[in-house]
Amino acid sequence: MNLVKIDIERCKECGYCINFCPKKVVLEKGTSINKRGYYPAVVAKQEECIACGTCAKVCPEAAIEVIKDFEGQEV
Ligand code: SF4
Ligand code: SF4
Repeated sequence: MNLVKIDIERCKECGYCINFCPKKVVLEKGTSINKRGYYPAVVAKQEECIACGTCAKVCPEAAIEVIKDFEGQEV
């Protein structure tokens, strides 16, 4: 499965990753606040991710890492 990791403390809630994801359902706005006062994006449907890398590219805060065919334990 592909893994999307979001550094929630870097996120500033711009929504670009959510809007530009071609699958639309992978990411969504979260409900818990980070230290900067934003509601970071969260991974809602990890299994739908095609590892296109778009979310990582459009994130202005470089908060997203996409790992294709991740096989280990998520940390
Ligand atoms: S890598 Fe592509 S499919 Fe996966 S969450 Fe990011 S934008 Fe969506
Ligand atoms: S693109 Fe980056 S800063 Fe914007 S909502 Fe997504 S993770 Fe947060």
